[in-house]
Amino acid sequence: MLGVYVHLPFCPYLCPYCDFAKWPLRESAARRYLDALYAEIEREPSVPASTVYLGGGTPNAYDAETITQVLMRLESRFFGASEISIELNPELVRAGDFARYRTAGITRVSIGVQSFEPAEIRTLGRKHTIAQIESVVAQARDARLPSLSLDLIFAVPGQTPDSWRRTLRAATELEPDHISCYGLTVEEGTPYAAWRAREPQAFFDDEREAELYAIAIEKLQSAGYEQYEISNFARPGHRCAHNLNYWANGEYVGLGVGAASFRGGVRSVHTRSLERYASASLDGRAIPSEAERLEGRQRAGEAIMLALRTAQGVSLRAFKERYGIDVMADYAPIVARFADTGLLERIGDSVRLTRRGRFLANDVCGAFITFE
Ligand code: SF4
Repeated sequence: MLGVYVHLPFCPYLCPYCDFAKWPLRESAARRYLDALYAEIEREPSVPASTVYLGGGTPNAYDAETITQVLMRLESRFFGASEISIELNPELVRAGDFARYRTAGITRVSIGVQSFEPAEIRTLGRKHTIAQIESVVAQARDARLPSLSLDLIFAVPGQTPDSWRRTLRAATELEPDHISCYGLTVEEGTPYAAWRAREPQAFFDDEREAELYAIAIEKLQSAGYEQYEISNFARPGHRCAHNLNYWANGEYVGLGVGAASFRGGVRSVHTRSLERYASASLDGRAIPSEAERLEGRQRAGEAIMLALRTAQGVSLRAFKERYGIDVMADYAPIVARFADTGLLERIGDSVRLTRRGRFLANDVCGAFITFE
């Protein structure tokens, strides 16, 4: 499998918690960026791809005609993808967009809802309304987009267990095929980091955040969504193949500013400078990037960390065949420690996080990464 990620970094405004490579939308910069992106795509060899993901930023800051053009350029180099996803801001969806997306081959839309509570939407710096979310979901259904996902955020300052339950209920009542739930993380250098420094009590501690996570698992599972990854829930047949490839430590190509690739055992990340990216690409120079070859323990530790995020966990036989490592023997002290504390379990050929382990996934995964 080869996944293709394309970063479209412009947003109508910037959210105060966001640490992505993103810039406020300006028409001239957005047009120049497209030229740079097309130049980068053209330099790629023509190969088959399994999935394409248009992420951001806000991909639909570009109109549907431009998105169609991007996909046509991609198809000339990365052909045959069976899943093509796009992230959408509900405020920016225009009449007829979904029909155009479908004609362009898009199979999956991921809508940045974040919350169904107006006060929380404002706290997150977003401007959409509940009516817009409902309208956008109805439009996607009318256009028969094969798969529809909603993105939600929990541990938002001011959120309560009850308001989170209301958001989950409103989300499931719209019957999306897939729901992602991410706990808010406060990244250094963002306005949220400054807010937390001034007012730490406004933010959730681990225990209160875990309470909201438990509510999400319970509500979504009882509404028929399988938790197939720590933060992702799907109805049967609607898992995100693009992200599954990441967690399987598969190969992917990242195009655009700040985009990451993993090919031939080398992980590389493009510069996060818009100017450096655009000028290098337009001049036909290599995009400034940082690269590292993952080998030995480091490669195996990364692969275990990624696999543990999924419901299936680590397949012992597959790891032996692919990486030549015996997880039970080579990582024996870690497996024993977390099995004894009830965070890891062995089921047949797999080692996976227990339900309790999912709440402490960062600790468990981190131990595999740092194990010497
Ligand atoms: S819309 Fe998304 S990418 Fe843009 S600023 Fe907000 S969180 Fe960041």
